[in-house]
Amino acid sequence: MNILEINHMKKAFGDLQVIKDISLSVKEGEVLSIIGPSGSGKSTILRCATMLEKMDSGELIYLGEAAARNNGEGKSVYSSKKDLKRMHQYFGLVFQNFNLFPHYSVLKNIMDAPMAVSKIGKEEAEERAMSLLKKLGLEEKAKAYPCQLSGGQQQRVSIARALALQPKMLFFDEPTSALDPELTGEILKVIKELAKEKMTMIIVTHEMQFARELSDRIIFMENGVIQEEGSPEQIFATDNARIKEFIGKFV
Ligand code: ADP
Ligand code: MG
Repeated sequence: MNILEINHMKKAFGDLQVIKDISLSVKEGEVLSIIGPSGSGKSTILRCATMLEKMDSGELIYLGEAAARNNGEGKSVYSSKKDLKRMHQYFGLVFQNFNLFPHYSVLKNIMDAPMAVSKIGKEEAEERAMSLLKKLGLEEKAKAYPCQLSGGQQQRVSIARALALQPKMLFFDEPTSALDPELTGEILKVIKELAKEKMTMIIVTHEMQFARELSDRIIFMENGVIQEEGSPEQIFATDNARIKEFIGKFV
């Protein structure tokens, strides 16, 4: 089953057509990586897929249910607030810059959304948060504040926070780009672990070896279009000079 399906997504900012006509899907348990140069529209796809941003036209379908579909004039029409709220719980999003609440403890950062969104009780939320912290090796940081943690630890907290809503899939937007090389590994390890557990994921990354190892499929984007899509073997053996050159910069 497709967890997510995007059909003919288009998005412009003013005169700038950022996403030109993108279709992609992810099946349950699949890992899809999106690579491509800066400014090619990778974040915009994730922002539209997670409804932080509205696309202009195209369809967005979660678990077979339309979050947005086209009207007769080819404009995206979104489902009701109530339906979108429910569909929001299907996914979690991990950003480049962690986006933790600075004035909340680690524990509260993780407990907050499940209590507010899933309406679970404090005790259950705390249990869930502690078990995630344990899983991510951060048990002893539960009472710390984000500023007291390393970047890698903060990013692990934001992964725990995303997982706390028990999503069907996770989006990662360059999860290691803000980290020193020696902290990057600890995050990649967590994501690898999630892949082993068959978490469905879309990962925007510049970590080419990681994408190669982990992905079921890789998409190369440039100028708002998918230039090539294939297995890691196919993408890394491509004849496309532009993609070769791009990949070559990172490996
Ligand atoms: P990537 O993540 O691949 O680096 P983005 O999706 O962030 O690319 O950006 C694609 C293009 O859209 C860039 O030219 C960027 O400047 C532009 N863009 C992104 N967000 C906005 C916005 N909110 N307003 C105007 N332009 C934007
Ligand atoms: Mg980006």
